[in-house]
Amino acid sequence: MKRETRMLDGSGQSLRSAGFSHHCFIDHRNIKDADKISAGSYGKVYLVGAGPNDPDLLTVKALKVIQQADVIVFDRLVNREILEFSSSSCQHIYVGKRCGKPSLKQQEISQILVEFAKQGKQVVRLKGGDPFIFGRGGEEGLLLTKHSIEFEVIPGITAAIGCAASSKIPLTHRELARSVTFVTGQVVTGALPAWSQLVGSGQTLVFYMGLEKAKDIQQGLLEYGLRGDFPLAIITHGCSRQQKVHISSLESLTSKANELKGVSPALIILGEVVKLREELEKTVESVISQEVI
Ligand code: SAH
Repeated sequence: MKRETRMLDGSGQSLRSAGFSHHCFIDHRNIKDADKISAGSYGKVYLVGAGPNDPDLLTVKALKVIQQADVIVFDRLVNREILEFSSSSCQHIYVGKRCGKPSLKQQEISQILVEFAKQGKQVVRLKGGDPFIFGRGGEEGLLLTKHSIEFEVIPGITAAIGCAASSKIPLTHRELARSVTFVTGQVVTGALPAWSQLVGSGQTLVFYMGLEKAKDIQQGLLEYGLRGDFPLAIITHGCSRQQKVHISSLESLTSKANELKGVSPALIILGEVVKLREELEKTVESVISQEVI
């Protein structure tokens, strides 16, 4: 059966004008007992991590709730193939950016979740990576709690973990990196990270949404003492067939980012661990042939 994917484009249309019924329709087939303990007969919301692109990286638990969902509210970084796991009656609602139009505001997305849950639906809020890593899962959870709607978080593989695996860069490694820090390049307040805390030896830094802020990142880290030849990798379209790994160093970060302008999504990994990739990438054949030589 061909399914319609509803697009909400952030133009401020109300839920009602966007075609959402305000009648209280409860589909008991898909509501588990646990759902009935939330206020009245509200449905339950699952904040689900879809992982980084590759549908095979979904958890079994995520797959189960996707299969049972009445509604899936998803954004740009979610691979559309994952939606195919849902039932033919499941409604899909896209709330990401589209054709230059802005994404829906966080408040509007949260409101959609509330509306559907109040109709007794089982709602899956599907997000790229993990909902609690730069995924605003906390904000949505707070609003759901405010409305007495039960929710559960199903973790996903965050981009740092997925990209590290698919590019063969271990984020920690004995003697090279004893800690790893996830940093966002985008901050609502405009405040820059505390560079002094990021430049200690023996740590790996992973910048999400960092490409547009490459110049600030480069300047900040150099100023606080990281070497210009500190190794870095930029992974674009991680965990997909289009994945590319660009190996470089801190002094070239800005120029590399300019070359990659507009390529999204992209993740920056900085650390001595990046150097291990060359060795780890060798094919079994090349290792055997080297041993023979
Ligand atoms: N909640 C998500 C992160 C959302 S922020 C997670 O846990 O992964 C969006 C940023 O994540 C992107 O700008 C990019 O920096 C990074 N990202 C997400 N998916 C990615 C992918 N497949 N490849 C590279 N970077 C990715």
